[in-house]
Amino acid sequence: MKTCSRCDSSLDDDARYCVECGAPQTEDAADELNKYVQRQAEQVAAESEGDDDSESGFIPTEELTDREQLWRRGCYVLGYGTIVIALTRVPAAESWPLILGGIAILPPIRRLTAEPLGSPLKREVMAGIYAVFALIGITLFVVLG
Ligand SMILES: [Zn+2]
Repeated sequence: MKTCSRCDSSLDDDARYCVECGAPQTEDAADELNKYVQRQAEQVAAESEGDDDSESGFIPTEELTDREQLWRRGCYVLGYGTIVIALTRVPAAESWPLILGGIAILPPIRRLTAEPLGSPLKREVMAGIYAVFALIGITLFVVLG
């Protein structure tokens, strides 16, 4: 019988690892453990490289955010532009739906709709509302103008 060099448990003479604490009891076993640990480390490294890959998967998300920002800016330009043009037409009938449409497409309005509805209306919905009001405004302009 011999005892474990680490925890003093009684071990068989030919035991390569301690049954209690797992400490290697021979140089071969220590080598083997080292190689095993190294393999595990390499695997972990490979896995974290995989994580890097999934991080580069964030790029589409960032692109989406860019697109979202672009959309936001577009909405502001379109909304304010429409309102400014509509204000020059006041008090003509077509100015009012254009003003409403211009307000509807402004991003903060979308956020306001989030409160009563639980989630903000889709951008497409706001764009649709804008399109309807703009169409009404243009129709009134053509018919009455
Ligand atoms: Zn031990």
